[in-house]
Amino acid sequence: MTIAKDKVVTLQYNALDDQGEGIDTSEDGAPMVFLFGANNVVPGLEEALLGKTTGDAVKAVVPPEKGYGVYNEEAVQQVPREAFEEVDVLEPGMTFTAQTEDGPVNLIIIEVVDDLVTIDSNHPLSGQTLTFDVVVEEVRDATEDELKHGHVHSAGCDH
Ligand code: ZN
Repeated sequence: MTIAKDKVVTLQYNALDDQGEGIDTSEDGAPMVFLFGANNVVPGLEEALLGKTTGDAVKAVVPPEKGYGVYNEEAVQQVPREAFEEVDVLEPGMTFTAQTEDGPVNLIIIEVVDDLVTIDSNHPLSGQTLTFDVVVEEVRDATEDELKHGHVHSAGCDH
């Protein structure tokens, strides 16, 4: 079976950032299992995997536009300290999830000066060219429920 939309793909993988530092790997954990064509992995990795089959080794070099996006200066903003009034101690490096009109957005605190907090809502891997070294371990058809939910159920599903 070859990889295409609505297939469930199992990968052994090793992901590196643009400095060659490991981001994530299956070597010390479980393989990656995902529903193909449902925005569960970055577009550049899906492009490289399309049409591959069990046992294929793929090296995908993914530019920011097909990865976690181009770094956006406008995603760095200053907000009043009151926006975090429920947090007693606010320090650079702390991460939060903000609820916005477009859904949840992860952000990181860059700086806290007096009553102004600088936040960055870029994805931590934005602006980076990523390398994925993967081996296709299994390709199967997705079940009806998986297609309905847009994700795999091998690890269970609570809804
Ligand atoms: Zn589900």
